[in-house]
This record gives sequence, structure tokens and C-alpha cells, in this order.
Amino acid sequence: MTILITGGAGFLGSHLCGRLLLAGNRVICLDNFFTGNKKNIEPWLGKENFSLIQHDIIEPFFISEKIDQIYNLACPASPVHYQANPIRTVKANTIGVINVLGLAKKHSARILQASTSEVYGDPAEHPQTESYRGNVNCAGSRSCYDEGKRVAETLFFDYWREHKADIRVARIFNTYGPNMSADDGRVVSNFITQALKNDDITIYGDGGQTRSFQYVDDLIDGLIKMMENQSGFIGPVNLGNPEEFTIKRLADEIIKLIPESKSKIVYRSLPEDDPRQRKPDISLAKEKLGWQPRVELEEGLKKTIEYFRKIIK
Ligand code: NAD
Ligand code: UDP
Repeated sequence: MTILITGGAGFLGSHLCGRLLLAGNRVICLDNFFTGNKKNIEPWLGKENFSLIQHDIIEPFFISEKIDQIYNLACPASPVHYQANPIRTVKANTIGVINVLGLAKKHSARILQASTSEVYGDPAEHPQTESYRGNVNCAGSRSCYDEGKRVAETLFFDYWREHKADIRVARIFNTYGPNMSADDGRVVSNFITQALKNDDITIYGDGGQTRSFQYVDDLIDGLIKMMENQSGFIGPVNLGNPEEFTIKRLADEIIKLIPESKSKIVYRSLPEDDPRQRKPDISLAKEKLGWQPRVELEEGLKKTIEYFRKIIK
């Protein structure tokens, strides 16, 4: 198959490129390199089965080569980056998503949206099931991403209702692993790079807020299963690891795994609208896709630390 991955040079996109190439597909990676990195896709540059298109999904585009599947990942995922230019974040999730859905329609390609647990906002229901409608502030500094991703889902379902587009929607919960950029700003990469550089480990708030951390390989399995599913199930489906940790516990785990670190924990103010708790209910993914995560936090952190040791010198 020929598979287009928008945002293919980013953290998740690069893992997806690798897995889909290994399975014998032709992969087209489209990216504007806002948060992506050429290093992530370097192994495949110049290879026959791999093409790179430097483009921003906000601008119209057409690809003449026949495309069978599209994974739409093009959007900055870290609060630091998506808030740096919030209007562009909204554009990527509206104009950009319309452009990518239009391309899927022209090619009659199946298209999967990388949605997010952020559609639940600061959730009042715990753990979060797909039927929970969320608690999202539409006027805050996270809204460009949260509301952007919500309207992106709306567009997917409207293209499905109106144009019979062959869609899949996956709601991804906090995922970590190699190829995250060192300056990404998300918690796992921040804590590991801080610990490796003997810098202060910055906990925002009191560290009592929770997240559920999924290792990237598990997520990639889930995304591909969702894309390949033929049962008529289009989602939305939660893809995340239901093991819940406080941010303080995450910091302690990382310090334990980097015993030579001289870093100290420091507390900084909590960003606006930072969700207090997050944990996926993955019953639907288990039932419909036969999927569940396998990698435990310690094992995933060890692999991620190994990666950051190589890139931070
Ligand atoms: P990332 O920032 O590493 O990757 C995003 C990629 O998209 C980058 O390569 C970036 O350059 C590219 N990009 C951004 N805007 C673009 C645009 N307008 N046109 C073309 N390319 C553009 O982030 P990631 O963690 O790999 O996330 C990938 C997708 O998964 C995002 O859509 C994100 O919202 C979603 N997601 C990720 C997580 C997670 O924990 N990693 C959780 C929920 C959802
Ligand atoms: N966080 C933190 N220190 C950091 C980066 C993040 O304490 O250096 C906290 C952040 O406030 C949030 C959690 O870790 O409560 C997860 O943040 P991240 O940006 O990784 O993802 P998201 O908030 O989108 O889940």
C-alpha cells in the first residue's frame, strides 16, 4: 500500500513511518518541520519506498500518486509548541484537516485522525470513556489545541456522514519514547533531560495531578490495528495505558533510573487549565481491536533514557 503520514517527521510519525516501511508499504511523509526533525526520518531518506514532502497542511496540496491510507498527525502536541502560535494550531485542526480530508476523498483513501485525550479537557469523569463529552474551556490558553482537536473530530464525522469518507478516529493519551525532541517541553522528555544534565526537575503545581503514560510501541500497534480494522468500527477509540501516576511519582521514578543524577526537584506554578487527572478506559479498544498496552512504565522509561543519553552530550 501507499500510505501518507502527515506530521511524519515528528515523534509519533517517525515511529509510524518505520513500522509501515518494515511491513513493506510505500510511505510518503509530509511535514512542515515545525516540531519535527529530519534526524527522525534520516534512515529512510533516499530509499525507494520513502518520499518526503515539505509542506504545511494549512496550505492546499494535491498528491497525484495513488494513496491508499492517510494517518493525519500534523499538529504540534506539546503545550509549549501548540501555544506558541495558537492561531496556527487552530488552523492546522480546521483548514489543515479539511485539506487532508479533501485529499482522502479524492483518493478514496482511508484516513485516521490522531485525536487526543485533551478532547476530555479537565475531566469530571474518571477514568474517561469514549462516551464522556468532556469538560473543556473554550477560551483558555489550551483551547487552541483542545477545541481544535474537537472540531477536527467533528470534521471527520461530518465527512463520514456527508461524503461516506472511510474514517478512523483514535484518541491518544500521553505517549512517550525515543524520538521525542529534547526541547519538546512535555513532562517525560523534560524530566529525563533535566536529570541527565543535572538541572532542576521542574514539577508544575504540587505534582499531585495524574497522567497515564503509554510507551510509543504500544500506541503504534493500536493505531495500525485501528486503521486495519474491517469490522465497521470507526471510533472514537481511546488508546492509552490505564496505569495512572502522579507527576511527583513520575519524577521519582526517573530519578531512580538515573542514579548518578544530582538534580533536585523544584516546584513551579501550574499552567492554566492543566487537567487534574487523566486515565483512559480502554474497554472499547480491547473489545473492538483486541488491543491493550504491554510495556510497563519502568521498561519504557529505561528505553527512553537510553535514547536521551545518546542525543544529549
Ligand atoms: P510532534 O510535535 O513530535 O509531531 C507533530 C509533527 O507534525 C511534527 O513533525 C511537526 O513538524 C508536524 N506539523 C505540525 N504542524 C504541521 C502542519 N501544519 N503541517 C505539516 N506538518 C505539521 O508530536 P507527536 O507527539 O508526534 O504528535 C503527533 C500527533 O499525535 C499530533 O497530532 C498530536 O496531537 C497527537 N497526539 C499525540 C500525543 C502524545 O502523547 N504524543 C497525545 C495525543 C495526541
Ligand atoms: N509538567 C511538569 N513539569 C514539566 C512539564 C510538565 O510538572 O516540566 C506537568 C504538566 O503541568 C502536566 C503534566 O506534567 O500536569 C503533563 O504535561 P505534558 O505537557 O507532558 O502533557 P499534557 O499536560 O498535555 O498531558
